[in-house]
Amino acid sequence: MGITSKEINSAFSAEVTALPGGEYLNRCFSCGACSGICPVSQAIHDFDPRKIIHMVRMGLKDKILASDLLWFCSKCRSCVFVCPQDVRFAEIMAALRQMALKEAYITVQDLVDKGKAASVDRDKCVSCLTCVRVCPWRVPEIDVKGLAAIDPIDCRGCGICVAECPAQAINLNESEDERLIAACGSGR
Ligand code: SF4
Ligand code: SF4
Ligand code: SF4
Repeated sequence: MGITSKEINSAFSAEVTALPGGEYLNRCFSCGACSGICPVSQAIHDFDPRKIIHMVRMGLKDKILASDLLWFCSKCRSCVFVCPQDVRFAEIMAALRQMALKEAYITVQDLVDKGKAASVDRDKCVSCLTCVRVCPWRVPEIDVKGLAAIDPIDCRGCGICVAECPAQAINLNESEDERLIAACGSGR
């Protein structure tokens, strides 16, 4: 199906470049290095960083911000290291995620429900700091109430803290895209 003019928001590209992380969007010359290196793209054909950048520049705001594709990126930053133009696609994804949450295309509860982020059952947390210690990305923090808190935007949904929490206080729903990756294997 083609794209209609109603789907195009001509201000979208400028909105993204104004966000921290989106500044270098327009340096992209579509070489595809990001798509070639992206491990998620290897498993999920619809997740194509070059195509997503193109869609942003075309102004397809609703299509992107409402899409599950936004939450497939594992934030490995491989795309950042290979880009000859220093576009920093991983940071563009982070900016788009912030925008999708801020403009209510998705909610934090949706992220938890879809298995994109772990969540702490605060009634069970015993403040042992295990999650703080084991998370490779230092996402969990002990908040002002002395209990663990996980920022759903930063969480990669890897499940390490879920397995390690001695109080079984952390939950992570099964993720649809992880099932896809497992089903697809590593080949295209
Ligand atoms: S940061 Fe995201 S888009 Fe970039 S290579 Fe990793 S998974 Fe792919
Ligand atoms: S590991 Fe579990 S119990 Fe310990 S601080 Fe984290 S959430 Fe709380
Ligand atoms: S699920 Fe993984 S990324 Fe998320 S807080 Fe736990 S250890 Fe960190």
